[in-house]
Amino acid sequence: MSVSVVLFTADLRLYDHPPLRAALEGRRQVVPLFVRDQAVAAAGFAVPNRLAFLADCLRDLDSGLRERGGHLVVRSGDVVEEVCKTAAEADADEVHMSADASAYAHARERRLRRALEAEGRRLYVHDAVTTAVGPGTVTPASSDHFAVFTPYFRQWSGQRLRDVLTAPRVVRVPSGVGSEELPSRASVPGVSPGLAEGGERAARERLTAWFRSGLAAYQDRHDDLAGDATSRLSPHLHFGTLSPVEVVHRARGAGGPGAEAFVRQVAWRDFHRQVLAARPAAAHADYRTKHDRWRSERTARDDIEAWRQGRTGYPAVDAAMRQLLHEGWMHNRARLLTASFLAKTLYVDWRIGARHFLELLVDGDLANNQLNWQWVAGTGTDTRPNRVLNPVTQARRHDPDGAYVRRWVPELREVAGAAVHEPWKLRGADRERVEAYPDPIVDLADGLARFKRARNRA
Ligand SMILES: Cc1cc2nc3c(=O)[nH]c(=O)nc-3n(C[C@H](O)[C@H](O)[C@H](O)COP(=O)(O)OP(=O)(O)OC[C@H]3O[C@@H](n4cnc5c(N)ncnc54)[C@H](O)[C@@H]3O)c2cc1C
Repeated sequence: MSVSVVLFTADLRLYDHPPLRAALEGRRQVVPLFVRDQAVAAAGFAVPNRLAFLADCLRDLDSGLRERGGHLVVRSGDVVEEVCKTAAEADADEVHMSADASAYAHARERRLRRALEAEGRRLYVHDAVTTAVGPGTVTPASSDHFAVFTPYFRQWSGQRLRDVLTAPRVVRVPSGVGSEELPSRASVPGVSPGLAEGGERAARERLTAWFRSGLAAYQDRHDDLAGDATSRLSPHLHFGTLSPVEVVHRARGAGGPGAEAFVRQVAWRDFHRQVLAARPAAAHADYRTKHDRWRSERTARDDIEAWRQGRTGYPAVDAAMRQLLHEGWMHNRARLLTASFLAKTLYVDWRIGARHFLELLVDGDLANNQLNWQWVAGTGTDTRPNRVLNPVTQARRHDPDGAYVRRWVPELREVAGAAVHEPWKLRGADRERVEAYPDPIVDLADGLARFKRARNRA
């Protein structure tokens, strides 16, 4: 019987998995392979929160395969070498995998294709597995990618998505292909205590719960910090335990303003991927430079540390940064607020903030993280690059009762209502009760003036 290898990457699922379905066609045997890629670790991406979540995903994928008569093969090392070795051991003539957007993914694909072809094997790369609409599928007349979201979204919305595939019923794995032991969450040190559970089973439960009780109100509630009323599907989309094609189909099927607003957010994910695919340098260099002379790690050391620890003296910023430390996840409005505070109010290089996020975020993703940071810093695709979010105004608008701050900042738990957003205004006994909470590290008007000077807008 002929054999295929399926290389799992950011698509750790059995439902709606085109490479797996293609590999199984004609009743072939399949080696489901995951390589713990040494290049990913060397580049600093293998951080505790994502490693722990990944361990959950691999175990769950293995158990899903076992229910179907197969199992997962895990190897460590250079991804190209390991795929070639596995293909040779199994005498496989085909390898299937998903397309991805980063420069690293493109280089991996090229190397793998060359190495496999030298051995007489074929590589098949499948689109629309890690994205709903892949990079390059829609382009403007005059460029290789869209630099503005609204016209991108118009074309994205007009694309016909492929149909959703069911999970295979049976997966036959040839005997004699050895696997390393699966990693486990318990063996990863330094994981955030409130980290979510990974794996396709958890992802599908979350998706079902979200469609049942969250989606309809999304448009009205997505910015409510305390309400926590967004889908929290981002880690599942990042690791591919959910298919973006399926998520969009199901949301459209549900219909209504909540679903429309939600689908628009999922399109942002594809938008950033097509920017990164066309401009790989945007992962580290300004997409549209404003010639900033940012405060560096050395000159702003104390401010950066206060921001990282959630001790800036601005309660909503601090609540968000502490949520990130505790859960490895943060609400989108909180990401906007904390990133604007660092890059604009403190005028610190956006790369320093992006690196901290990537060290902790369970959904930490090169395209989404770096390009959202650039969007906020005004060096990316925001059409209003010099807007500055005021952390107090934002807090009053999106946490009107202060419940989000009280949840994450215990020093302020005794302060009732919106007064919690400006503890420096408290007097007498009220002030004494919040003594343990730091004073603001920057005056907002000074921060704004510094930013305007830096951007020649004073
Ligand atoms: C500074 C900054 C850094 C960010 N870093 C990341 C990151 O590393 N990984 C990541 O997945 N998202 C990132 N985001 C985008 C967004 O904040 C998260 O996707 C969202 O908060 C995840 O929560 P959710 O799943 O409940 O989102 P929902 O509001 O339920 O949205 C549904 C899905 O749409 C996608 N999405 C939503 N907003 C955005 C957006 N602005 N850009 C791209 N995709 C979006 C996500 O895949 C999300 O799961 C960042 C945003 C900012 C401002």
